[in-house]
Amino acid sequence: TRAPNNLESFWMPYTANRSFKQAPRLYVGAKGMYYTTVDGRQVLDGTAGLWCVNAGHCNPRIVQAIQDQAAEMDYAPSFQMGHPKAFELASRVAQMLPGDLDHVFFASGGGSEAVDTALKIALAYQRQIGQGTRTRLIGRERGYHGTGFGGISVGGIVANRKAFGTLLTGVDHLRHTHDLGRNAYSRGLPQHGAELADDLERLVTLHDASTIAAVIVEPVAGSTGVLMPPQGYLQRLRQICDKHGILLIFDEVITGFGRLGTNFGADYFGVQPDMVTMAKGLTNAAVPAGAVGVRKHIYDAFMTGPEHMIELFHGYTYSAHPLAMAAGLATLDVYREEGLFQRVADLAPYWEQALHSLKGARHVIDIRNLGLIGAVELEPIAGKPTARAYDLFIKCFEKGVGIRTTGDIVALSPPFIIEKGEIDRIVETLRECLQTLD
Ligand code: PMP
Repeated sequence: TRAPNNLESFWMPYTANRSFKQAPRLYVGAKGMYYTTVDGRQVLDGTAGLWCVNAGHCNPRIVQAIQDQAAEMDYAPSFQMGHPKAFELASRVAQMLPGDLDHVFFASGGGSEAVDTALKIALAYQRQIGQGTRTRLIGRERGYHGTGFGGISVGGIVANRKAFGTLLTGVDHLRHTHDLGRNAYSRGLPQHGAELADDLERLVTLHDASTIAAVIVEPVAGSTGVLMPPQGYLQRLRQICDKHGILLIFDEVITGFGRLGTNFGADYFGVQPDMVTMAKGLTNAAVPAGAVGVRKHIYDAFMTGPEHMIELFHGYTYSAHPLAMAAGLATLDVYREEGLFQRVADLAPYWEQALHSLKGARHVIDIRNLGLIGAVELEPIAGKPTARAYDLFIKCFEKGVGIRTTGDIVALSPPFIIEKGEIDRIVETLRECLQTLD
């Protein structure tokens, strides 16, 4: 019954020829730090769903806000009309955004739409300011920006790009990010490697700055294995973008809303991007929503102007959906009133200590952490990549601890309400299960 790779294990419960009873891991309930499985077991959520349930599951205030909104008004269009909660949430998010980013565009589905929106804003803005030759977008190898064609194109998963022949043209990728991944057990950020940002200079020389609209990176690359930027790397990227008139987009779908103990990753690293994409923690994942934060003059270039209605049209039926706006407002209240971002900052040293106690555990070749993100990288079984991590995932699940694996890397990102005892339980379960792996 063992699935050969992560992808199959992911889809298995949804294939038509399997009954739900047979499917191995079905969640039917969730509360706080725990999921309830279909057979009534409790599973400690070590990943906040998919890096998204930051305030814990089914927070009563968020649930109430969604219920009230559903009864009051189910839907309102965002074209030519709107509703007050959308403006309220936009202004609340704008207050949290780094620096002078003060305008918010709401997408509906999540991060992928937010990324596509940001890329389009970048192209539209360059054109509006008379830089219409700047149509090239730059991503980073091993970056992840969702499943839209824009996200795949700038994304750094080569197999993913190859699988779909027709992508955005003119896209290129910063090199060397694989090297950024390994932290050789050092805590916090890698001390060396800021000069890897100079790879952008290589691309500028190769393509000419006048063809490049924007660079998109995750402050911490999450889904491809929790890769930390070396100290100073993002600053250097910012400088090079400034030098050449290139917009810098931070994809903060994971790092936004407290994951590093600050509002956004940009705040943690002290680097000001031109645009921020967000999703997941925006609504605590209770209702899907994504958004882009951007400066007024860039937003205006995209959303207003004589061409807008005919050429630059962009929006979703469910942009600023009332349920999402209600969930988002309640979520931000919970974050603030429960001091959850500060809690992340306070717990981070304990988290680091606990994770790094796995140094020397069987099969472990690297450990990385920042805020309440963590990665435990395993030595792959020769010729069977992902198999060892998958086994670990199953064993932990059987012991009631939910982890996530990407390749042979265990990626951890618990809800911010986690207690120290629960951190210990995750780490001890990993330690115990690692011992029993082939
Ligand atoms: N960008 C980043 C950085 C992400 O981590 C993700 C999802 N893991 C996405 C974009 C895509 O978001 P979604 O799955 O909500 O479309």
